[in-house]
Amino acid sequence: MEKCSLVVPCYNEEEALPLFYEETEKVIQTMPYLEFEYVFVNDGSSDKTAQVMKDLAEKDEKVHYVLFSRNFGKEAAMYAGMKEATGDYVVIMDADLQDPPELLPDMYKAVTEEGFDCAATRRVDRKGEPVIRSFFARMFYRIMNKMAKIDMVDGARDYRFMKRVMVDAILSMEEYNRFSKGIFGWVGFDTKWIPFENRQRVAGKTKWNFFSLFKYSLEGMVAFSTAPLVWASIIGLLFCFIAFVAVCVLVVRAVVFGDPVAGWPSLACMITFFAGLQLFCSGIIGMYMAKSYLELKGRPIYIVKEKK
Ligand code: UDP
Ligand code: MG
Repeated sequence: MEKCSLVVPCYNEEEALPLFYEETEKVIQTMPYLEFEYVFVNDGSSDKTAQVMKDLAEKDEKVHYVLFSRNFGKEAAMYAGMKEATGDYVVIMDADLQDPPELLPDMYKAVTEEGFDCAATRRVDRKGEPVIRSFFARMFYRIMNKMAKIDMVDGARDYRFMKRVMVDAILSMEEYNRFSKGIFGWVGFDTKWIPFENRQRVAGKTKWNFFSLFKYSLEGMVAFSTAPLVWASIIGLLFCFIAFVAVCVLVVRAVVFGDPVAGWPSLACMITFFAGLQLFCSGIIGMYMAKSYLELKGRPIYIVKEKK
């Protein structure tokens, strides 16, 4: 019988995890044609998540867990879970039941009968999310899809059902700055998109605020596109050209009309503007350099404290 691994990154999910397990058990009992295993990854939770995992593992031998030495982030947790997973199929799911387990049979059908390599899910709406957050999220996908030449779907979740070949491809991308939405698109493979309606998390609270999402989106851009570097060069060239034209105009004006000393406020404005622009462009370059620096150090993506 083929095996399917459910990878679940958890950060402070002591309340949600038992509910997740209960609901998922109900669904997988309706799928006797697959053998299942759970790979819970505790991403350095400060509550009793690790204990909940151990209790579940004692009760149920399908349950495996990986405990991190500290919080490494969801990206690292997903990577670790995929690395530990032994199944022919791997599914990534959130612990808060925002990724409905009822979709599992459909996803399985997509990769077996319908011949896809992967079944991914997307939310068709953003109900229950702050309006401003939805607005920026939409903008992010618009910009990102233009900048990076990979396919990124608005509302896509990390919840996906993948064949082993795809998982191995993802695992072969050992970069330190991980941005899965980009990585999933970059590796390619045929993906079926399954839409579903947004739901609220069952317990606990979200680990994301506006600022952390903003930072995450910038990291995504730096990780999957070098377009900002090109923009910086183009802006630089454009202003060189404008400056050249301005010099010509000024020289002609001085020769024809004499040289009255005027216009220092406009000069001050221009100096400030260009100083800002230069800093902005070196900031862009700096961002890429910082990422390269971290990548060059070759640090491990996560550190395991204990596993079963
Ligand atoms: N998560 C994690 N490490 C983190 C933050 C989140 O493993 O540093 C997990 C979290 O436990 C959950 C999933 O990632 O299972 C999604 O997190 P959350 O529900 O907070 O995000 P949202 O659904 O609000 O985007
Ligand atoms: Mg959630």
